[in-house]
Amino acid sequence: MERIYNFSAGPSMLPLPVLKKAQAELVNYRNSGMSVMELSHRSWLFTDIIAEAERLLRELLAIPETYKVLFIQGGASQQFAMVPMNLLSKSGKADYVNTGSWSKKAIKEAKKFGTVRVIASSEEDNFTYIPKVDSTMIDPKADYVHITTNNTIEGTAYSVIPDTGDVPLVADMSSNILSEEIDVSKFGLIYAGAQKNIGPAGLTVVIIREDLIGKAQESCPTMLDYKTHSASGSLYNTPPTYGVYMAKLVFEWLTDLGGLKEMGRINREKAQMLYRTLEESNMFESPVKENSRSMMNVPFVSDSAELDAAFVKEAQAQGLETLKGHRSVGGMRASIYNAMPVEGVQQLIEFMKSFEKSHRPKEEIK
Ligand SMILES: *Cc1c(COP(=O)(O)O)cnc(C)c1O
Repeated sequence: MERIYNFSAGPSMLPLPVLKKAQAELVNYRNSGMSVMELSHRSWLFTDIIAEAERLLRELLAIPETYKVLFIQGGASQQFAMVPMNLLSKSGKADYVNTGSWSKKAIKEAKKFGTVRVIASSEEDNFTYIPKVDSTMIDPKADYVHITTNNTIEGTAYSVIPDTGDVPLVADMSSNILSEEIDVSKFGLIYAGAQKNIGPAGLTVVIIREDLIGKAQESCPTMLDYKTHSASGSLYNTPPTYGVYMAKLVFEWLTDLGGLKEMGRINREKAQMLYRTLEESNMFESPVKENSRSMMNVPFVSDSAELDAAFVKEAQAQGLETLKGHRSVGGMRASIYNAMPVEGVQQLIEFMKSFEKSHRPKEEIK
């Protein structure tokens, strides 16, 4: 069986060289006679893996020394609660920007722990754009401002990271972390579930400025306190060891590729190819406003649910999988994360063009 091109929003494709390396090392990791899954998380073989994963991630994102990197569990969804539990420490107030389904979930969870104000939203326009956020909109007393940098379901992304002044900026970067260079120092805290651009599900990465650690209330469960994971080097309890190992292989792959500068160039190229095709198409279009378009998740629609269904089905028969759009947007969605090769996007484009030719409404063929 050949590998297919998987356009899933997550879990998504992993780079083939990473899977091959994992396969080669699966049964006997570095002459230990064990797989990584069987290693003690306290053994030097594993602590080497986690230290190297952190070192590579710090290098890739140029993470300043004043930030801690945590490898934990619970997914991005657990961060929706951990962020307010740990950061609502002074005024108990936080400002959130509502840009889609994941933002809404983060807002709903934060309301359990403090006073949440939604300072900007694109909900009335079906989340088809990123609303303007500037420093005058932010409560200077807020403990933090929360944004979702890339909206996986709606296919939108911030083209500029808002300036929040002295109020720490917290970002859910689950679906665009490591997709291009960013300035980590603009953020107080960044979190991401691994299963889109980092590795297998089960691992969550948190990058947090040191001064934001240690402020949780006494009642905060030990496992939900950033201090627990920071003080123990993410080894308070058993971390998701295999997920950390896979993430390390992905970080090596990114480093060998030329780092985030080169990854960003490739991602821009892939996205531009696809958006250009949508612009030129008489059948498909992007529902997203031009200045808010995501490089990672590209929704597109035709004017007919039957055509959409036929597209998804015929694409699958060609090895182009998981192109069905999210139920809240409809149509199709191509998720083209880091591991999606340029050739995968090229094949999708060729298929879109041939589908359009063969399914063009009859009255249009003169
Ligand atoms: C996938 C996703 C989540 C949820 O991640 P889990 O790890 O499944 O909890 C949250 N936010 C964004 C932006 C996502 O893409």
